[in-house]
Amino acid sequence: QSQELSQVQIDYHAALQALVEDGTRMVCTGRMHTDRICRFESLCYSTEAEEFVFFHSNASVMLPNLGSRRFQPALLDLSSVEDHNTQYFNFVELPAAALKFMPKPVFVPDVALITNRFNPDNLMHVFHDDLLPIFYTMQQFPDLDLESRLFFMEGWSEGLHFDLYKLLSNKQPLLREQLKTLGRLLCFTKSYVGLSKITTWYQYGFVQPQGPKANILVSGNEIRHFTKFMMEKLNVSLEESASEEYIVVFSRTINRLILNEAELILALAQEFQMKTITVSIEDHSFSHIVRLISNASMLVSMHGAQLVMSLFLPRGATVVELFPYAINPEHYTPYKTLSTLPGMDLQYITWQNTDRENTVTFPDRPWDQGGIAHLDKAEQERIIKSKEVPRHLCCRNPEWLFRVYQDTKVDIPSLIQVIRQTVKSKPGPKKQKWTSGLYPGKVRDAKCQASVQGTSEAKLSVSWQIPWNLKYLKVREVKYEVWIQEQGENTYMPYILSHQNHTFSENIKPFTIYLVWIRCIFNKNLLGPFADVLLCST
Ligand code: UDP
Repeated sequence: QSQELSQVQIDYHAALQALVEDGTRMVCTGRMHTDRICRFESLCYSTEAEEFVFFHSNASVMLPNLGSRRFQPALLDLSSVEDHNTQYFNFVELPAAALKFMPKPVFVPDVALITNRFNPDNLMHVFHDDLLPIFYTMQQFPDLDLESRLFFMEGWSEGLHFDLYKLLSNKQPLLREQLKTLGRLLCFTKSYVGLSKITTWYQYGFVQPQGPKANILVSGNEIRHFTKFMMEKLNVSLEESASEEYIVVFSRTINRLILNEAELILALAQEFQMKTITVSIEDHSFSHIVRLISNASMLVSMHGAQLVMSLFLPRGATVVELFPYAINPEHYTPYKTLSTLPGMDLQYITWQNTDRENTVTFPDRPWDQGGIAHLDKAEQERIIKSKEVPRHLCCRNPEWLFRVYQDTKVDIPSLIQVIRQTVKSKPGPKKQKWTSGLYPGKVRDAKCQASVQGTSEAKLSVSWQIPWNLKYLKVREVKYEVWIQEQGENTYMPYILSHQNHTFSENIKPFTIYLVWIRCIFNKNLLGPFADVLLCST
């Protein structure tokens, strides 16, 4: 399938001459290897050496020019997983004159996005590490359009979900192994190397125990923009609310099973008076699953990668994540973090099996499916007795694997009870209008006037105008926060006010300079910026 590279005709001699004369040109964004993406002209790749090659000539450009810091530890991360030492990108350097002695270059005419997939067989990794980052890297650079081509350099075969990667561009993505069939020296006419991390929300625990990323920069809006694109490509149309409401149970069929699934489905259907459907990756096509989830009122599933499909839930839906015995839900939150991203508008609920009677363990399975037979007897004993897996690093902690691959008989009354604590009536999309969280601008024309009474009392009257954007918005509640700080002091007096003027007399001294900070607040929690500080002398 890779032979279609020649679709776009290029003038071979002109391309070769340009490469020899101009060499490679690179300009990057980002200050560190962890946030860098580089744009190249004439970046080459030797399929024999399995190395990228930068050709130097008088016209070549290398920005940043890091010298040997390029190896400390690398020029950039090729996957969206931060600073992972198996995912680094670099190139070797040669003078363009060396081309005379090298295999004839084969030119890649398509604009290329060169990157690594992190774990293409795991659906959470596929969406979180690859699909969303690729989609938004392509949005960042206009020439990475639907006619550009993806090159996956991590060295995996297509993997279980290759069809999903194919949706991102009109050209077949190429894998590292396939490059060999194209030639010994490939030269990418125009390419981007690296991947934006701006949409990722979770770190998997390589250096500290797993958890949400420290600085999450994505909201539900961008997630839905991406899922809308994917649904269009999958030919799944968003049905309008009219149709019947239902619950989806996303089941696993190989491991981490719900042992009483039939009973669970009946109980959910009865409790919420809704049709309840099961799906699994093994038994249903991707578009079928997406079609069902994108209209569901509630998604119920064991902890596991299939829960990343909450991406496709409609606003207002409920996610119920079930955890096996001894797995603390607070310690494993990729799907909680997703559901509770600002603007995702999903309700998130966890249930944990706390009853040893209801768990089935598999000590004799291979270690990567949670077996512990290879451990010494004392360690096995300790693990079996333990009531909670202590926090740990990724990825081979045997106690974690042992517990996370248990099967579970769900205690139905306790599950229904935790769902009912959050979902009072019917779950699913609320009919209310979703108010988008727009922030106020600065208050304007702030002024102050002081009056002194005698030698110990003074008053400070402060007034201001509404933020400029307020007159175009319908805001339920507008408040102002005012801080009054005596010049030279570290502390200040804060006030929350409803009007655009106020006279302060408490703790105001005569013949003193005060700094007055004012900002607007919409609907209690949308804090605007402070206006320029106002200097007031009493
Ligand atoms: N998987 C599945 N059904 C199963 C077991 C696994 O669909 O019975 C999927 C799972 O959703 C993930 C992949 O297979 O996409 C790898 O599963 P694993 O248990 O290794 O990862 P986890 O789900 O714990 O992230």
